[in-house]
Amino acid sequence: MSDDALTGTSQAARAARAARAGEILEALFPAPAIPLDHGDPFQLLVAVVLSAQTTDARVNQVTPALFARAATPAAMAALSEREILGFIRSCGLAPAKAKNLRALARLITERHGGEVPRSFEALEALPGVGHKTASVVMAQAFGVPAFPVDTHIHRLAGRWGLSRARTVEEVERDLKALYPPARWNALHLQIIHFGRAHCPARGHDPDACPICAWAMSPAQRRRERAAGRLPAARARATLGGRARSAPR
Ligand code: SF4
Repeated sequence: MSDDALTGTSQAARAARAARAGEILEALFPAPAIPLDHGDPFQLLVAVVLSAQTTDARVNQVTPALFARAATPAAMAALSEREILGFIRSCGLAPAKAKNLRALARLITERHGGEVPRSFEALEALPGVGHKTASVVMAQAFGVPAFPVDTHIHRLAGRWGLSRARTVEEVERDLKALYPPARWNALHLQIIHFGRAHCPARGHDPDACPICAWAMSPAQRRRERAAGRLPAARARATLGGRARSAPR
């Protein structure tokens, strides 16, 4: 595949970028670990709910004590909101999460026989569980193909020219169309691991990146530079003794 076939906005070029990015991600992260520590589907669900606006590292710090006290839906439902809050206070949005965790534990106990339901519809009916959380649980707890898209995956899909969509729902639709279902669950994790390994919050350098170096379009580079996320154009050539900026 020539680099020329990878540029452009045609569906063929987008599919070629997706395929090459997928190969690189597979080579870099052949067995991507699930970042949230858990022992079963319920504990994964709790951890994913806690991860909203909170780092996975922070969630992994608070869940061992929480699960030691309440490892099952019935045990979690038996705690008061205040008791749950005491375990998760260092997470963002802790009061709302404590309320939701108690309510979802109660619903799982009463409506689902104490088992986390295995459907998007039933999961999304639980308090504090949106489509992304349900997708993570379906993918990582039950092995059902899903492609959870968070803001980081949204941003990388845009930089790699895989989706120009504005909402995470539309990005999910675009990524699902580019990859076979058998790859969705791993790709979600691989993109997360890639972002953590390669994407600083600011000041990234596409030329040093294993994917952006060939996938990021000139137009996207201009947008990134205008947003102050790229280093200033570097001197690439000297003409008549004067440094000339790299083309933008
Ligand atoms: S250039 Fe590297 S750091 Fe910047 S978005 Fe691409 S992958 Fe992330």
